[in-house]
Amino acid sequence: MLNLGVKSLQKILQLEQAKGYSNLAVIGGLDRYLHGCLEKTDATEQLLFLKEVCSAGFSYAALNRDERKEWVEGMLQQLAESVAGEQPAKVPSPRLPKRRIAPSGSLDSPITVLKGISPTLAAKFAKLGVKTIREMLYFFPRRHLDYTQMKPISELEKDQEQTIVATVWEAHTAALGWRKSTEATVADDTGTVRVVWFNQPYLAKRLRTNAQIVLSGKVSEFPRRSGKLVFESPEWETLEAEDLIHTGRLVPLYPLTEGLNPRRVRKLVKEAVAQWSPQLVDFLPQEVRDRCSLVDLPQAIQQAHYPDSEQRKDEARRRLAFDELFLIQLGVLARKQEWQEGQRGNPFQIDDPLLERFLNSLPFTLTPAQQKVMGEILSDLEKSQPMCRLLQGEVGSGKTVVATAVLLVAVANGYQGALMAPTEVLAEQHFHNISTLLSKVGQPEGEKGPLLSYPSLPSYPLTIALLTGSLSQGEKQKIQQLIRQGEVDLVIGTHALIQKEVEFNRLGLVVVDEQHRFGVLQRSALRQKGFNPHVLVMSATPIPRTLALTLYGDLDLSVIDQLPPGRVAIETKWLNPGQREAAYAFLRRKIAEGRQAFIICPLIEESESIETKAAVAEYQRLSEDVFPDLRLGLLHGRLPTSEKEEVMRNFRDGELDILVSTPVVEVGIDIPNAVVMLIEGADRFGLSQLHQFRGRVGRGEHKSHCLLLAETPSLEGRERLKIIERTRDGFLLAEEDLKIRGPGEFFGTRQSGLPDLRMARLSDVALLELAREEAFRLLRDDPGLKQSEHLLLAKEVAQLWEKGGEAS
Ligand code: ADP
Ligand code: MG
Repeated sequence: MLNLGVKSLQKILQLEQAKGYSNLAVIGGLDRYLHGCLEKTDATEQLLFLKEVCSAGFSYAALNRDERKEWVEGMLQQLAESVAGEQPAKVPSPRLPKRRIAPSGSLDSPITVLKGISPTLAAKFAKLGVKTIREMLYFFPRRHLDYTQMKPISELEKDQEQTIVATVWEAHTAALGWRKSTEATVADDTGTVRVVWFNQPYLAKRLRTNAQIVLSGKVSEFPRRSGKLVFESPEWETLEAEDLIHTGRLVPLYPLTEGLNPRRVRKLVKEAVAQWSPQLVDFLPQEVRDRCSLVDLPQAIQQAHYPDSEQRKDEARRRLAFDELFLIQLGVLARKQEWQEGQRGNPFQIDDPLLERFLNSLPFTLTPAQQKVMGEILSDLEKSQPMCRLLQGEVGSGKTVVATAVLLVAVANGYQGALMAPTEVLAEQHFHNISTLLSKVGQPEGEKGPLLSYPSLPSYPLTIALLTGSLSQGEKQKIQQLIRQGEVDLVIGTHALIQKEVEFNRLGLVVVDEQHRFGVLQRSALRQKGFNPHVLVMSATPIPRTLALTLYGDLDLSVIDQLPPGRVAIETKWLNPGQREAAYAFLRRKIAEGRQAFIICPLIEESESIETKAAVAEYQRLSEDVFPDLRLGLLHGRLPTSEKEEVMRNFRDGELDILVSTPVVEVGIDIPNAVVMLIEGADRFGLSQLHQFRGRVGRGEHKSHCLLLAETPSLEGRERLKIIERTRDGFLLAEEDLKIRGPGEFFGTRQSGLPDLRMARLSDVALLELAREEAFRLLRDDPGLKQSEHLLLAKEVAQLWEKGGEAS
């Protein structure tokens, strides 16, 4: 009842606004109405402020227009606050039809328990990811239309979103052009205006003469320069409706699918929210809400859908975004805590002379950035907690050297070390590089075959093994046995390393290369093979700090943010489609000079099989029509692993001139002889991904080129191409990427088990850090979230990570 009083007062005041503060909203004037209102509600707290405002001889009639405007706006503001401030659970929503009884089912019931949702309709919602009531509450609008600008008809302006309250004079169907439509004339005290709804002849019947309706939309001038305004297909509803849904407010725009129209979705969601959001139990501890000034959950859900104002919408978004970030941080930090505090690690002693000797044996000195991260890693290794660190650095920034030094420290401490790479070719490359780097520390002796090498150091005899899936069963068993017996000090390999047949004798350090290919599960599988080994994860994908804290929040972060001196910059050029032949001629010239080239096929998002087909066709075209005399290889995601490895090997060994590849395949290999990277459909890729491709060339002494082709780039695509042309800094590009495309599109995130972010923006550093801080504090006080007041929260965290899944 009470709520109705407030609502009708709100409507009257809005009407008064719409009528230009003419004191015509109610018969007899506003003063009479207000006093009547006060008499009826005088015991209620809600309208106490009204009493205050209206006391002592207040007279609306006596105010001038500006004063009236100010007063009405102030009142509406207070009313909005009093409505939002009340406990929704206690006051049954006035919008519910009386015949509805208490909600049956639970928040996790299918939406078919809601009135008006048939299985057919539910199937449509399912396409949008909405199956349960809870999911419907979390089915947020893409944005809101601002229909809050109430105007009297005489003050309507062209091409602006505006709302009027008017009376229907007449409505009829009309043939406008070839479309059957509805045409109407509506009026308020200040004038009349014509309204047309194209293609909606059925509306004519529903717009009864004398009905009071609210219209929101844009008006245009028709005929042009006639000075006559017309509403074109505005949103509308009758004023008798108990609450405005489509007009006169911030109106939500939901994602739609075939067979779901906006009005229907709005209405259904509105009912679900009104009925069910009060049932949501807030899982955030009160203390956290207070400290971070967050609104409660039911309110946030309501305001996210049907906000009372921009400000309330923002508050709702902040709360819901905080939830997302907070749950992620709780997940990652809990994992870190479990890992680090649950178990004792193996503190290493740092043998300075040995390290010194190793570093002196290198043909270069470490860059300051390499020295800095080396310091960070070494101090981790000395601790009794196992290290969990992410080492980021661009391709070629010198991560492998750092990793090698660290592996040497592990061996010097009597432990085994392991390095895991995503492909065999990469593992082979690491094996080769690391063996070479280490061989210079001591006197290499003995055989140095492809599988086992025995460079021995004077004081630390060192054995390195390569373990990959393509070894014969016998070879594998032999190496596994040596690993088990502790005969092998360093093992370099692929996923083969985490198979259960592999048992280590005393694994002390694990290095994982090219992180984005490995999921958390695999990381922990490798950890479990040791006695709480230290873990160093290396990634060449520059990830903005906020994203790193989210994706890899369980890891400490080290960054190599400079390249070794003397690198020749890769020249990047965005070509127009007319320059394709010139690009091919350029490739040909470079190949004639003895170099090699990559061609990346366009990204096709529809499906991998279409992408593969397109790549095969492109490969055929290139090898038959364009480069019939050259040796081309094709790499795509559908190839069996062994074939992929073979193609990469052939390219590495110089047996192919051009490697044609789909974007799904990352060619994370060092091929110093490859000097041209040609990217087709370059406008479709994210900046980070383009940068990643570009990093595949420029690794040798020869000047390298990155050529970008785009058929008809969108405005945004052109912007990206311009940026990549002039920017070489991968972190800068990553930040840009995040800004332009958002985290969902960010290179690699989809594979990394990052839960869906609907409200949070990773560019919101402050909120992210707040969430991390709060998560940290909570886990410090209640590790494992075992206290009873945290049980709900623990459940939410568990659910989120279940849904987010793990990378494979
Ligand atoms: P990443 O693993 O980060 O891609 P690498 O460790 O493979 O980089 O280094 C790339 C190349 O640069 C290698 O040939 C390596 O020997 C060389 N390199 C590494 N650090 C330096 C340095 N400080 N100065 C000069 N060259 C370096
Ligand atoms: Mg590398």
